[in-house]
Amino acid sequence: MLTLLHHARFYTLDAKTPNATALVIRNGQIEAVGDDADLRAAFPHAERVDLQGQVVLPGLTDAHIHFEWYARGLQEVDAETASLSEALRRVGEKAKTTTAGEWITGHGWNQNNWGGRFPCAGDLDLSTTTHPVFLRAKSGHAGWANDAAMQRAGVTAHTPHPAGGQIGHTPDGSLNGLFFEEAMNLISRHIPEKTPDAVAQAMLAAQEKAWQVGLTGLHDFDGRSAFMAFQMLKERGQLGLRVVKMIRVRYLPDALHLGLRSGFGDDWLRVGNVKVFLDGALGPRTASMLEPYEGEPDNSGLVVTDKEDLYEHAAQAARNGLAMTVHAIGDRANHDLLDVYQTIRYEESERGPERLRHRCEHVQILHPSDYQRLGQMNVIASMQPIHATSDMLMSDKYWGPRRSAGAYAWRTQLNAGAVLAFGSDAPVESPNPFLGLHAAVTRRRADGTPGPEGWYPEQRLTVEEALRGFTLGAAYAGYMEDRLGSLTPGKLADLIVIDRDIFTCDPMAIKDTQVLGTMVGGEWRFRS
Ligand SMILES: [Zn+2]
Repeated sequence: MLTLLHHARFYTLDAKTPNATALVIRNGQIEAVGDDADLRAAFPHAERVDLQGQVVLPGLTDAHIHFEWYARGLQEVDAETASLSEALRRVGEKAKTTTAGEWITGHGWNQNNWGGRFPCAGDLDLSTTTHPVFLRAKSGHAGWANDAAMQRAGVTAHTPHPAGGQIGHTPDGSLNGLFFEEAMNLISRHIPEKTPDAVAQAMLAAQEKAWQVGLTGLHDFDGRSAFMAFQMLKERGQLGLRVVKMIRVRYLPDALHLGLRSGFGDDWLRVGNVKVFLDGALGPRTASMLEPYEGEPDNSGLVVTDKEDLYEHAAQAARNGLAMTVHAIGDRANHDLLDVYQTIRYEESERGPERLRHRCEHVQILHPSDYQRLGQMNVIASMQPIHATSDMLMSDKYWGPRRSAGAYAWRTQLNAGAVLAFGSDAPVESPNPFLGLHAAVTRRRADGTPGPEGWYPEQRLTVEEALRGFTLGAAYAGYMEDRLGSLTPGKLADLIVIDRDIFTCDPMAIKDTQVLGTMVGGEWRFRS
């Protein structure tokens, strides 16, 4: 099978032929890249596809996504609505296609958007009385159940409040359907886990969404059922994304017993790194900081895993060929992580040539004395550009302007020699990589906030630098730079056709880019 894509503008990200007008594919791999007339002459029997002058990029990889969580979200009721009645209508719609007695779940509601009054169990009777319903609030700190759900969970008006949680009651003492914090578990633990097969089904729909926004690969941070689902899709020939699967640290002993090593797998599914959480997040002010949060002299955040434990995990993993990937948001978490990596790199150097692609997830705020260290130690900066524009006002407020100069600072990392691998953290944010490219290049929100220059504009990247984060950088992080990331002969034919030239258009228009076609392994997976 020989295919010639021609009459197009290819941005290859390959220094040898950065621009081309034609590309030849043989058996899912790139055979040649070059000039339209030359390649038509050299491959006269290839099947020709005229791309009508459109722009083509290497396929994009999301280097940090929770794909099972995202896929499940697509099946749930989206309760992020402007009115209570619209949320109830959506639950009613879902009820029509859900077998009576089965759970209906959803998320996204915020009573402040509904006039300030909390919804109650009785409201849901308008949607269904035959399904248990549980809808989580946008904040994640409250849940809203109907009577059927509370009966199923065995919660009554006399059920005591659990530690760290509260059950909502009406003034007359009966249940009102609201569950706060830990009390949410009283309901949610009765919602059956999805089988890996059901997760695989949900992922099929999510995969379509991924192709529609130009993704051809992802690095997944979900758990065991996600790994099983990816394997099942692959067995059935249905996996159409290049997946690097991270391993949760709780499975590290199992991985060690099995003898798994980072990079094991094939072009579809590979074993990635061992994932550890060091701290919390900026929003709830639980990211671990060297100095307290602005205006909160007693709060420096939360240490989820201490430095000694992290070292134990990392040393064990690295000795056995497993690289680490560590969630570090605050400057103290990042500092501790870099100290640990320094020791690990030293131990590795004693053992032989360096192989492991250790990563830092988020690199959200660094102390100036740590700016150079990822680059110096060849630690990958796995960053999510969209977090910067989503969080910038919080960063200014909670970390203050002095410290925020070191926040979401991808230019600083690139200049220090670190490889950038970009992602979205979906479903925390949209998985659309063009929103990330836009944020990386402009440091502005879609509405233009905070003004024409962007937030800490010295951190802006060029379009090519940002694109590398979603292509070559992500490929390197996944041990796949010989297979993915650029349109180079010998690499896999993963590419996308888009409706504009992001290198020359107004940078504010990058976010509106539409994908016209997505090819993975030489096959069109999506064409509009
Ligand atoms: Zn994440």
